[in-house]
Amino acid sequence: MRQSGIQGFGGFATQAIPAGTRIIEYAGERLTPAESEARYPDTLGERHHTFLFAIDDEVVVDAAVNGNEARFLNHSCAPNCDAVIDDGRIWIESIHDIEVGEELVYDYAYILEERHTPAAKKRFPCYCGAITCRGTILAKKR
Ligand SMILES: [Zn+2]
Repeated sequence: MRQSGIQGFGGFATQAIPAGTRIIEYAGERLTPAESEARYPDTLGERHHTFLFAIDDEVVVDAAVNGNEARFLNHSCAPNCDAVIDDGRIWIESIHDIEVGEELVYDYAYILEERHTPAAKKRFPCYCGAITCRGTILAKKR
């Protein structure tokens, strides 16, 4: 873990990692969506930052409590990792071969209940710097 050019701390490969490697669990306290909303009320217009990860409609993992280094991994619109949900747990896995020193990043692909308006996207900005950067960590909504 060290300072990242994207945001705050990031995780970097200290050895070469082949594609398809399960790297780390996204650990944390398991909450219901209602509990997570009570803990982190969404303030309109404010930039959003939590360590929440929704597994499904019933379970949200809060890595701010009992989390591990996985919570520091940054989002990128051109990721080398993906978050894979397996049997109710979240794992960060490599989707490309990763070289020593590369930052480990995955696409957060957040989905809001509300419409993904320009204002909503502004609350969830992306600074990944990829050529394909979509300017937000929100997923494309269909
Ligand atoms: Zn981006």
